[in-house]
Amino acid sequence: MRAAGFQSIVVLTGAGISAESGVPTFRGPDGLWEGHRVEDVATPQAFRRDPALVQAFYDARRAALARVAPNPAHAALARLDAQWQGDLLIVTQNVDDLHERAGAARMVHMHGELKSALCLACGERQPAPETLSDGPACARCGAHGRLRPDIVWFGEMPYHMDRIEAALAVCDLFVSIGTSGAVYPAAGFVQGARHYGAHTLEINLDPSEGTHFFDEARHGRAGELVPLWVDELLQG
Ligand code: NAD
Ligand code: ZN
Repeated sequence: MRAAGFQSIVVLTGAGISAESGVPTFRGPDGLWEGHRVEDVATPQAFRRDPALVQAFYDARRAALARVAPNPAHAALARLDAQWQGDLLIVTQNVDDLHERAGAARMVHMHGELKSALCLACGERQPAPETLSDGPACARCGAHGRLRPDIVWFGEMPYHMDRIEAALAVCDLFVSIGTSGAVYPAAGFVQGARHYGAHTLEINLDPSEGTHFFDEARHGRAGELVPLWVDELLQG
């Protein structure tokens, strides 16, 4: 890959970029997310059926953030953000905060954030308290027990889609890191970027479901491959 000529980059990241930090991926070897079926914890129906289970699940994920730290892949993307003179948008599907803790700023969380809560009474987003299970009050309207995790569940509309689509339409390099390519619409971004003429690169432990859509693929650990790719780009 030649860095020369690239102006505008979109990087899509998924659970695989946080795996080496000790955050389990979604479709681990057992196909479960931390021991749960996705339908039981990551859908609006699950929340309606068993809010206590869903709140406890996300409370545990939020608490686990304190025990993990960014890895060299997050650090490399933060370095890219600091040093890349052209346009850059890092689009993460992750709900952890490891990109921002590494120092990345030009980024969006398309599937929400563990550190954020959404009030079902008034619609206000706010920093999440440590736990939502105990029904804390909304900081804006004061309603008790109406805060839900500010996470995009299956069947809900991802955030920032206008900004993401606009960036995909003008990017000349699209890079997908640590994502299985199974969750739409993110899995379709590669085809969108290609349609607009971007060079497309996949960096993943193993070939993703959409690996054949990419011009180039590098398979291995994100903690090793992402710093190498960023060096290439910044030196190119
Ligand atoms: P996924 O779990 O479906 O796929 C992860 C991919 O990363 C797999 O293809 C796997 O082979 C690859 N991978 C694993 N270890 C890797 C490594 N060390 N280096 C490079 N690649 C590695 O994840 P997804 O595609 O992001 O979709 C899952 C959904 O679940 C997302 O929407 C996300 O919101 C949610 N989720 C988030 C987190 C998080 O915030 N860290 C964790 C689990 C799930
Ligand atoms: Zn409220």
